[in-house]
Amino acid sequence: MDQPLRIQQLDDRTIGYIAAGEVVERPAQVVKELIENSIDAKSTRISVEIERGGFDLISVSDDGTGIHSDDLALALDRHATSKLANENDLAQISTLGFRGEALASIGMVSQMTISSRTKDSDGNSISMNDGHRGELVICGMAEGTRIEVASLFKNQPARLAFQRRPATEASKIVDIVVDHAMANAHIGFKLTNDARVVLDIPAVEDPNDRLFDLLGGQASSLIPLEKSDDDEQAPGDERWSGWISTPDISRGRGDDIHILINSRPVASQPFLKAIRRGYKTRLMQGRHPVAILNLQLPNDEVDVNVHPTKREVRFKHSWRVLERLERAIAYTLARIPTQPESSGAIAPITGLAPTTIPQAQNTKQRPSWAINASSQLSLDGVKAEPNKDSKSTNRPISSSPITQQTLTGESPIAPALSSAERELHRHAGQDTKRPDHEDPLGAIINDLPEMEPLSQFANSYIMVQSDDELLIVDQHALHERIRYERLRHDESLWTSQPRITPISIDLNARQLAKMSAAQNVLSELGFVFANDSEGWNITAAPNLLDSDSIGPFVHDLLLDLSEDGGVLESVEKVKDELAFMRSCRGAVKANEKLSLPEMRRLLEDMRRIPNPWACVHGRPTAMRIPINALDHHFGRHG
Ligand code: ADP
Ligand code: MG
Repeated sequence: MDQPLRIQQLDDRTIGYIAAGEVVERPAQVVKELIENSIDAKSTRISVEIERGGFDLISVSDDGTGIHSDDLALALDRHATSKLANENDLAQISTLGFRGEALASIGMVSQMTISSRTKDSDGNSISMNDGHRGELVICGMAEGTRIEVASLFKNQPARLAFQRRPATEASKIVDIVVDHAMANAHIGFKLTNDARVVLDIPAVEDPNDRLFDLLGGQASSLIPLEKSDDDEQAPGDERWSGWISTPDISRGRGDDIHILINSRPVASQPFLKAIRRGYKTRLMQGRHPVAILNLQLPNDEVDVNVHPTKREVRFKHSWRVLERLERAIAYTLARIPTQPESSGAIAPITGLAPTTIPQAQNTKQRPSWAINASSQLSLDGVKAEPNKDSKSTNRPISSSPITQQTLTGESPIAPALSSAERELHRHAGQDTKRPDHEDPLGAIINDLPEMEPLSQFANSYIMVQSDDELLIVDQHALHERIRYERLRHDESLWTSQPRITPISIDLNARQLAKMSAAQNVLSELGFVFANDSEGWNITAAPNLLDSDSIGPFVHDLLLDLSEDGGVLESVEKVKDELAFMRSCRGAVKANEKLSLPEMRRLLEDMRRIPNPWACVHGRPTAMRIPINALDHHFGRHG
C-alpha cells in the first residue's frame, strides 16, 4: 500500500495564484473589477482604454475619491478592503466589491500600476509586477484613480493558451462596459479600443437618455416596464423597473436580457423563465425578448457572496421576486395590442400562397409554420379532375399505370400530366417540383431495400413492393421529407448576393464590436458590411434572405457570434425553417397524378434520406403491410 502524501501549508505566492485563477480568468474580468472599483469610489466619469483585447493594456481612470497614500500598498494585499469591516457587514453589502481580492489577484498575473490622489493629498503610485510589489512614488495627477494593467498573463503560458482572440475579448469588454453604463446612468463612460473610441456617453439624470445613448434607434422598440395598480400593496420591498421589448421584437438567444440587482449586473439565467411566463404565449417558441430590468431591494435581502465574480446572487424571497417580475411584464404587455410575429423569423419567404390559408379567426396569432402545416393538411392544392366513371365525387380513381410502360432509358410514352396541365400547375402558384426533375441525393444511407412501384391509388398513394412487404406511401409526405433533406443541405442558398439597394442596419456599440470580432464568419456566410456617413449598411447578404428578414437575422447572428467558434444556432435555425417551409411548398400534393418514373424516383430517393418513415410534420410517410399479415388475413396460414 502507498503511504499517504503528507499535507503542507501552501506558501503565499501559490495561494495568490490560486485566488487569481478565480478572479481574473480573462481580460474582460479585469475590466469588470476595475470599473466596479471606480463605481464604488463614487466616480462621475470612468474612462477605459484597452489595447489588443486587453492583453497588452487595460487602463481604467476615474474621478472618484481616490485611495489614501498610506493605504496604497495595502490595496495590493489579498483580503484588504475599505468596504467591509467585519462579518456582520457581509449581510448588508451595498458596494460592488467587498472581498478585497481583485487588485491583489490582478497584480499576480500582470504588470500593474496604481496611481491615486485623494482630495487633500498628493498623487502617489505603486506597481506590482507578477506578484512583486514596488515602492510608493509621488506622481502628479488630478483627483481620482488610474489603474494600468499591462502584459496580462504574459508569465502564465498555461492561462494564455486558453484565452480567446483579442477581437472577441474586446467585444466582451464592450459588453461589460455597456452593462455597467446601463446600471449607472449618473456616471459618464468612455471606452477606447486600440485608440478608437467605441463608446463615449455623458452622465445623465434620466435613465431613458442612457438607454438611447447605448442602444441607439433600437431603444425605441423597448417599452418601460409598468407596475400593476396593486403592486404597491403586494408584500415585500423589492421593486422592478426597466424596459422590455414588445412581442414582435425578439432574439434567438437570451443574451439581450440584462438584469441589474441594486445596480449590479448579474447573470440573467435565473430570471429567464419568469420573463417568458410574463410574455405568456406571445413569444414564439425558442425566441427571447430584449429587456433591461433593474431590481431594487434592501441589501439584506440579497446575498452576493456566493460566487467569486458575483455574477450569481441569492434572494431571501426568490419566489416572490420572480413572481413580481412576471406580473409586471404581463401587466405591461396586456396594455399593448397583439401584433403578428414578424421580426426575427423569415416569414415573407415561407408560406404557401396566402389565398390557400383558411382564414380562421385566430390565424394571425399562430406562428407561420403552424399556418403552413394546417394549410398543407387541408390538401387544398389544385384538385385533380374527378374520374368520370367514378361514383365517388371527391376521390379520383387512378387509372392503372401499367399502361404507362417505359421503354428502356426513355421517358414514359404517356406523361402523367400534359405539358399544358403542368403549365397550369405552375401558374396556379403551386410551384410543384416534379420528383424526377430534382437534383439527385447522395448515397443510400438507410436499410430500405430496392422498391418497385406497383400503382398509384386515388392519385394520392403509391402502392409499393418492398421485399415481402406492401407499402402504401403517402406521396406528398414522402416527397416533402425528401425535399427537406435536399434543401437542408443546399449550400447554394447561402451564396452571397450583392444588394442593389444596400440595407441600412442599426448597430450599437456592442453589436459593432461583435461584428468586427467576427468579420471572417460573417463574410463566409455571405454578409458584406459598409460604413457611410449615415451609419452601417449591408451591401451583400445570403441569397435566401429577403430584405425584410436581413436586419432581424443579423441581430440574432451577432448574439450567436459571441461564442467562440461554436455552432451558429441562428444559421442552423434558418436552414431548418427554410427547408421546412420550402419542402412543403414544392412537394407533390395529394390528388396529383404521378408517372412511374416519378414514383420510382421518389422510392429511390427514399433510400437516401435519414428519416424515411416520417414527414417533416411528424406524420407517417408510409404504411407497411407484411405479406405475412396478408397471408394471415386470407387464411393461408396453418
Ligand atoms: P474590493 O473592491 O473588494 O474592496 P479590490 O482589490 O478591488 O477589493 O480593491 C481594494 C481596495 O482598493 C478597495 O477596497 C478600495 O478601497 C481601493 N480601491 C481600488 N480601486 C479604487 C478606485 N478606483 N478608487 C478608489 N479606491 C479604490
Ligand atoms: Mg473591487
